[in-house]
Amino acid sequence: MTSRTGPAPRIDLHAHSTASDGTLTPAELVGAASDAGLDVLAITDHDTTAGWAPAVGALPPGLRLIRGAELSCRWSGAQPAVPLHLLAYLFDPDHPELVAELARVRAAREERGERMVDLLRADGVDVNWPDILAGAGGGTVGRPHLAQALIRAGLVGSVREAFGPDWLGERYRLPKEDIDVFRAVGLVRAAGGVPVFAHPRATRRGRVVPDELIAELAAAGLAGLEADHEDHSPAEREHVRALAAELGLLVTGSSDFHGTHKTVQLGAFSTSVEAYERIVAEGVTEVASG
Ligand code: AMP
Ligand code: ZN
Ligand code: FE
Ligand code: FE
Repeated sequence: MTSRTGPAPRIDLHAHSTASDGTLTPAELVGAASDAGLDVLAITDHDTTAGWAPAVGALPPGLRLIRGAELSCRWSGAQPAVPLHLLAYLFDPDHPELVAELARVRAAREERGERMVDLLRADGVDVNWPDILAGAGGGTVGRPHLAQALIRAGLVGSVREAFGPDWLGERYRLPKEDIDVFRAVGLVRAAGGVPVFAHPRATRRGRVVPDELIAELAAAGLAGLEADHEDHSPAEREHVRALAAELGLLVTGSSDFHGTHKTVQLGAFSTSVEAYERIVAEGVTEVASG
Protein backbone atom coordinates (compact mmCIF):
# COMPACT_ATOMS: atom_id res chain seq x y z
CA MET A 1 0.00 0.00 0.00
CA THR A 2 2.91 2.37 0.48
CA SER A 3 3.58 2.49 -3.25
CA ARG A 4 0.15 3.95 -3.86
CA THR A 5 0.04 7.52 -4.96
CA GLY A 6 -2.91 9.82 -4.51
CA PRO A 7 -4.96 10.20 -1.37
CA ALA A 8 -3.98 8.21 1.73
CA PRO A 9 -5.83 4.89 2.03
CA ARG A 10 -8.73 4.96 4.45
CA ILE A 11 -8.31 2.29 7.10
CA ASP A 12 -10.92 1.62 9.83
CA LEU A 13 -9.86 -1.17 12.18
CA HIS A 14 -12.83 -1.56 14.55
CA ALA A 15 -16.43 -2.29 13.53
CA HIS A 16 -19.30 -4.45 14.79
CA SER A 17 -21.95 -6.44 12.90
CA THR A 18 -25.02 -8.45 13.93
CA ALA A 19 -22.58 -11.20 14.92
CA SER A 20 -22.43 -9.12 18.13
CA ASP A 21 -24.13 -5.81 18.92
CA GLY A 22 -23.98 -3.97 15.58
CA THR A 23 -27.08 -3.55 13.43
CA LEU A 24 -25.71 -4.38 9.95
CA THR A 25 -25.16 -8.00 8.96
CA PRO A 26 -21.53 -8.85 8.14
CA ALA A 27 -22.42 -8.69 4.42
CA GLU A 28 -24.11 -5.32 4.84
CA LEU A 29 -21.15 -4.08 6.89
CA VAL A 30 -18.58 -4.71 4.16
CA GLY A 31 -20.97 -3.16 1.63
CA ALA A 32 -21.34 -0.07 3.81
CA ALA A 33 -17.56 0.14 4.25
CA SER A 34 -17.09 0.13 0.50
CA ASP A 35 -19.85 2.74 0.04
CA ALA A 36 -18.13 4.90 2.68
CA GLY A 37 -14.96 4.85 0.56
CA LEU A 38 -12.86 2.73 2.90
CA ASP A 39 -9.88 0.78 1.55
CA VAL A 40 -9.51 -1.44 4.63
CA LEU A 41 -12.05 -2.54 7.23
CA ALA A 42 -11.58 -4.75 10.28
CA ILE A 43 -14.58 -6.71 11.50
CA THR A 44 -14.21 -6.92 15.28
CA ASP A 45 -17.31 -8.39 16.87
CA HIS A 46 -17.35 -8.97 20.61
CA ASP A 47 -15.98 -12.41 21.54
CA THR A 48 -16.79 -14.11 18.24
CA THR A 49 -15.49 -14.83 14.75
CA ALA A 50 -18.96 -15.81 13.45
CA GLY A 51 -19.08 -12.79 11.11
CA TRP A 52 -15.83 -13.62 9.30
CA ALA A 53 -17.15 -16.04 6.66
CA PRO A 54 -20.25 -14.04 5.61
CA ALA A 55 -18.15 -10.84 5.48
CA VAL A 56 -15.52 -12.50 3.25
CA GLY A 57 -18.27 -14.00 1.10
CA ALA A 58 -19.74 -10.56 0.42
CA LEU A 59 -16.48 -8.58 0.12
CA PRO A 60 -16.89 -5.85 -2.53
CA PRO A 61 -14.09 -5.34 -5.08
CA GLY A 62 -11.35 -3.04 -3.85
CA LEU A 63 -12.05 -3.52 -0.14
CA ARG A 64 -9.60 -5.38 2.08
CA LEU A 65 -10.87 -7.10 5.20
CA ILE A 66 -8.92 -7.70 8.38
CA ARG A 67 -10.53 -10.50 10.32
CA GLY A 68 -10.59 -9.70 14.02
CA ALA A 69 -12.54 -9.68 17.26
CA GLU A 70 -12.91 -7.54 20.38
CA LEU A 71 -12.24 -9.63 23.47
CA SER A 72 -13.96 -8.87 26.77
CA CYS A 73 -11.15 -8.69 29.32
CA ARG A 74 -10.55 -7.63 32.90
CA TRP A 75 -7.62 -6.40 34.93
CA SER A 76 -7.71 -7.72 38.48
CA GLY A 77 -5.13 -5.29 39.84
CA ALA A 78 -7.93 -3.08 41.20
CA GLN A 79 -11.04 -3.89 43.25
CA PRO A 80 -13.47 -4.48 41.70
CA ALA A 81 -11.65 -5.63 38.55
CA VAL A 82 -11.53 -3.11 35.68
CA PRO A 83 -13.28 -4.32 32.49
CA LEU A 84 -11.39 -3.58 29.28
CA HIS A 85 -11.47 -4.47 25.60
CA LEU A 86 -8.69 -6.08 23.60
CA LEU A 87 -8.85 -5.97 19.80
CA ALA A 88 -7.31 -9.04 18.22
CA TYR A 89 -6.43 -9.10 14.53
CA LEU A 90 -5.57 -11.84 12.03
CA PHE A 91 -5.45 -14.73 14.52
CA ASP A 92 -6.16 -18.39 13.80
CA PRO A 93 -9.91 -18.77 14.48
CA ASP A 94 -9.44 -22.50 15.17
CA HIS A 95 -6.89 -22.14 17.98
CA PRO A 96 -8.51 -24.53 20.53
CA GLU A 97 -7.81 -22.59 23.72
CA LEU A 98 -8.93 -19.28 22.25
CA VAL A 99 -12.05 -20.88 20.75
CA ALA A 100 -12.93 -22.37 24.15
CA GLU A 101 -12.35 -19.09 25.95
CA LEU A 102 -14.55 -17.13 23.54
CA ALA A 103 -17.33 -19.73 23.87
CA ARG A 104 -17.11 -19.48 27.66
CA VAL A 105 -17.36 -15.67 27.57
CA ARG A 106 -20.35 -15.74 25.18
CA ALA A 107 -22.18 -18.21 27.44
CA ALA A 108 -21.39 -16.07 30.49
CA ARG A 109 -22.74 -13.00 28.67
CA GLU A 110 -26.05 -14.78 28.17
CA GLU A 111 -26.29 -15.70 31.85
CA ARG A 112 -25.40 -12.15 32.81
CA GLY A 113 -27.95 -10.68 30.40
CA GLU A 114 -30.66 -12.88 31.84
CA ARG A 115 -29.70 -11.89 35.39
CA MET A 116 -29.83 -8.21 34.41
CA VAL A 117 -33.33 -8.81 33.03
CA ASP A 118 -34.27 -10.48 36.35
CA LEU A 119 -33.10 -7.36 38.21
CA LEU A 120 -35.12 -5.11 35.91
CA ARG A 121 -38.23 -7.29 36.23
CA ALA A 122 -37.89 -7.38 40.03
CA ASP A 123 -38.28 -3.60 39.88
CA GLY A 124 -41.40 -3.93 37.72
CA VAL A 125 -39.69 -3.12 34.41
CA ASP A 126 -41.53 -4.88 31.59
CA VAL A 127 -38.75 -6.51 29.58
CA ASN A 128 -38.28 -10.20 28.94
CA TRP A 129 -35.29 -12.35 28.17
CA PRO A 130 -36.67 -14.36 25.20
CA ASP A 131 -37.40 -11.12 23.29
CA ILE A 132 -33.90 -9.78 24.03
CA LEU A 133 -32.27 -13.03 22.96
CA ALA A 134 -34.34 -12.99 19.77
CA GLY A 135 -33.28 -9.35 19.21
CA ALA A 136 -29.64 -10.43 19.35
CA GLY A 137 -30.40 -12.83 16.49
CA GLY A 138 -27.82 -15.41 17.52
CA GLY A 139 -25.05 -12.81 17.87
CA THR A 140 -23.01 -12.19 21.04
CA VAL A 141 -25.46 -10.65 23.54
CA GLY A 142 -24.60 -7.32 25.14
CA ARG A 143 -26.10 -4.35 26.91
CA PRO A 144 -27.03 -2.71 23.57
CA HIS A 145 -29.59 -5.49 23.11
CA LEU A 146 -31.05 -4.75 26.55
CA ALA A 147 -31.02 -1.06 25.63
CA GLN A 148 -33.19 -1.83 22.59
CA ALA A 149 -35.68 -3.67 24.82
CA LEU A 150 -35.91 -0.62 27.12
CA ILE A 151 -36.52 1.57 24.06
CA ARG A 152 -39.16 -0.83 22.71
CA ALA A 153 -40.90 -0.74 26.10
CA GLY A 154 -40.94 3.08 25.94
CA LEU A 155 -38.91 3.33 29.15
CA VAL A 156 -36.04 5.34 27.64
CA GLY A 157 -35.88 7.49 24.55
CA SER A 158 -32.39 6.61 23.32
CA VAL A 159 -29.46 4.22 23.63
CA ARG A 160 -27.58 7.01 25.39
CA GLU A 161 -30.29 7.25 28.03
CA ALA A 162 -30.35 3.45 28.40
CA PHE A 163 -26.62 3.57 29.24
CA GLY A 164 -27.21 6.22 31.92
CA PRO A 165 -26.59 5.49 35.63
CA ASP A 166 -30.27 4.77 36.36
CA TRP A 167 -30.32 1.95 33.84
CA LEU A 168 -27.65 -0.20 32.20
CA GLY A 169 -24.73 2.12 33.00
CA GLU A 170 -24.84 1.47 36.73
CA ARG A 171 -28.04 0.47 38.52
CA TYR A 172 -28.75 -2.66 36.47
CA ARG A 173 -25.22 -3.30 35.22
CA LEU A 174 -23.65 -6.59 36.26
CA PRO A 175 -20.01 -7.53 35.68
CA LYS A 176 -19.13 -10.00 32.92
CA GLU A 177 -16.95 -13.07 33.35
CA ASP A 178 -14.20 -11.58 31.26
CA ILE A 179 -10.80 -13.01 30.30
CA ASP A 180 -7.81 -11.97 32.38
CA VAL A 181 -6.08 -9.46 30.13
CA PHE A 182 -2.62 -11.05 30.39
CA ARG A 183 -4.09 -14.42 29.48
CA ALA A 184 -5.92 -12.78 26.56
CA VAL A 185 -2.74 -11.15 25.21
CA GLY A 186 -0.94 -14.50 25.53
CA LEU A 187 -3.76 -16.42 23.84
CA VAL A 188 -4.03 -13.97 20.94
CA ARG A 189 -0.27 -14.19 20.33
CA ALA A 190 -0.35 -17.98 20.68
CA ALA A 191 -3.07 -18.01 18.00
CA GLY A 192 -0.83 -15.92 15.72
CA GLY A 193 -2.82 -12.74 16.20
CA VAL A 194 -2.03 -9.12 16.92
CA PRO A 195 -3.45 -7.66 20.16
CA VAL A 196 -4.33 -3.95 20.35
CA PHE A 197 -5.81 -2.32 23.45
CA ALA A 198 -9.18 -0.74 22.46
CA HIS A 199 -10.02 2.78 23.76
CA PRO A 200 -7.60 2.41 26.70
CA ARG A 201 -8.27 5.90 28.13
CA ALA A 202 -12.03 6.11 27.66
CA THR A 203 -12.76 7.66 31.06
CA ARG A 204 -16.30 8.48 29.96
CA ARG A 205 -17.04 4.73 29.90
CA GLY A 206 -15.87 4.24 33.48
CA ARG A 207 -12.62 3.38 35.22
CA VAL A 208 -9.47 3.01 33.14
CA VAL A 209 -6.22 1.18 33.86
CA PRO A 210 -2.93 2.88 34.85
CA ASP A 211 -0.11 3.44 32.38
CA GLU A 212 2.05 1.01 34.36
CA LEU A 213 -0.35 -1.80 33.45
CA ILE A 214 -0.11 -0.87 29.77
CA ALA A 215 3.69 -1.02 30.06
CA GLU A 216 3.40 -4.52 31.57
CA LEU A 217 1.06 -5.58 28.77
CA ALA A 218 3.54 -4.26 26.20
CA ALA A 219 6.21 -6.44 27.79
CA ALA A 220 3.75 -9.38 27.64
CA GLY A 221 3.11 -9.04 23.89
CA LEU A 222 0.65 -6.20 23.36
CA ALA A 223 1.22 -4.74 19.88
CA GLY A 224 -0.63 -1.44 19.93
CA LEU A 225 -3.01 1.10 21.40
CA GLU A 226 -6.16 2.56 19.87
CA ALA A 227 -5.72 6.33 20.24
CA ASP A 228 -8.25 7.95 17.91
CA HIS A 229 -11.69 6.87 19.14
CA GLU A 230 -14.82 8.90 19.84
CA ASP A 231 -14.71 8.00 23.54
CA HIS A 232 -11.28 9.68 23.93
CA SER A 233 -11.01 13.43 24.44
CA PRO A 234 -8.28 15.21 22.41
CA ALA A 235 -6.07 15.20 25.52
CA GLU A 236 -6.66 11.46 26.04
CA ARG A 237 -5.73 10.79 22.38
CA GLU A 238 -2.48 12.69 22.81
CA HIS A 239 -1.70 10.86 26.02
CA VAL A 240 -2.23 7.46 24.35
CA ARG A 241 -0.06 8.50 21.41
CA ALA A 242 2.79 9.59 23.70
CA LEU A 243 2.54 6.40 25.75
CA ALA A 244 2.62 4.26 22.60
CA ALA A 245 5.71 6.10 21.36
CA GLU A 246 7.41 5.57 24.71
CA LEU A 247 6.61 1.84 24.71
CA GLY A 248 7.28 1.20 21.01
CA LEU A 249 3.64 0.27 20.36
CA LEU A 250 1.74 0.97 17.15
CA VAL A 251 -1.20 3.37 17.22
CA THR A 252 -4.61 2.89 15.60
CA GLY A 253 -7.69 5.02 15.03
CA SER A 254 -11.12 3.54 14.38
CA SER A 255 -14.82 4.25 14.34
CA ASP A 256 -16.03 1.36 16.56
CA PHE A 257 -19.08 1.43 14.26
CA HIS A 258 -22.22 -0.28 15.66
CA GLY A 259 -24.80 0.66 12.98
CA THR A 260 -27.77 2.43 14.53
CA HIS A 261 -26.80 1.31 18.06
CA LYS A 262 -24.38 4.25 18.05
CA THR A 263 -24.18 7.53 16.15
CA VAL A 264 -20.58 7.18 14.91
CA GLN A 265 -20.12 6.48 11.18
CA LEU A 266 -17.69 4.14 9.40
CA GLY A 267 -14.38 5.88 8.72
CA ALA A 268 -14.97 8.55 11.39
CA PHE A 269 -11.42 7.78 12.63
CA SER A 270 -8.67 6.01 10.75
CA THR A 271 -5.36 4.23 11.03
CA SER A 272 -2.07 4.99 9.25
CA VAL A 273 -0.69 2.74 6.52
CA GLU A 274 2.41 2.17 8.69
CA ALA A 275 0.37 0.78 11.59
CA TYR A 276 -1.74 -1.30 9.19
CA GLU A 277 1.37 -2.82 7.64
CA ARG A 278 2.83 -3.70 11.04
CA ILE A 279 -0.39 -5.50 11.95
CA VAL A 280 -0.45 -7.39 8.65
CA ALA A 281 3.21 -8.38 9.03
CA GLU A 282 2.61 -9.77 12.52
CA GLY A 283 -0.67 -11.64 11.90
CA VAL A 284 -0.99 -15.30 10.83
CA THR A 285 -4.26 -14.89 8.87
CA GLU A 286 -4.17 -13.30 5.41
CA VAL A 287 -5.91 -10.03 4.71
CA ALA A 288 -8.96 -10.89 2.53
CA SER A 289 -9.32 -8.95 -0.72
CA GLY A 290 -12.50 -8.22 -2.63
P1 AMP B 1 -21.40 -5.06 27.26
O1 AMP B 1 -20.31 -5.64 26.43
O2 AMP B 1 -22.61 -5.91 27.33
O3 AMP B 1 -20.95 -4.60 28.63
O4 AMP B 1 -21.89 -3.75 26.50
C1 AMP B 1 -20.91 -2.84 26.10
C2 AMP B 1 -21.25 -2.34 24.72
O5 AMP B 1 -22.14 -1.26 24.84
C3 AMP B 1 -20.02 -1.82 23.98
O6 AMP B 1 -19.92 -2.45 22.73
C4 AMP B 1 -20.25 -0.38 23.74
O7 AMP B 1 -20.00 -0.05 22.41
C5 AMP B 1 -21.69 -0.15 24.07
N1 AMP B 1 -21.76 1.04 24.90
C6 AMP B 1 -21.13 1.28 26.05
N2 AMP B 1 -21.46 2.49 26.53
C7 AMP B 1 -22.34 3.02 25.64
C8 AMP B 1 -23.05 4.25 25.56
N3 AMP B 1 -22.91 5.19 26.49
N4 AMP B 1 -23.85 4.44 24.50
C9 AMP B 1 -23.98 3.50 23.54
N5 AMP B 1 -23.34 2.32 23.57
C10 AMP B 1 -22.52 2.08 24.60
ZN1 ZN C 1 -20.31 -3.24 21.20
FE1 FE D 1 -15.01 -1.67 23.01
FE1 FE E 1 -16.17 -2.12 19.89
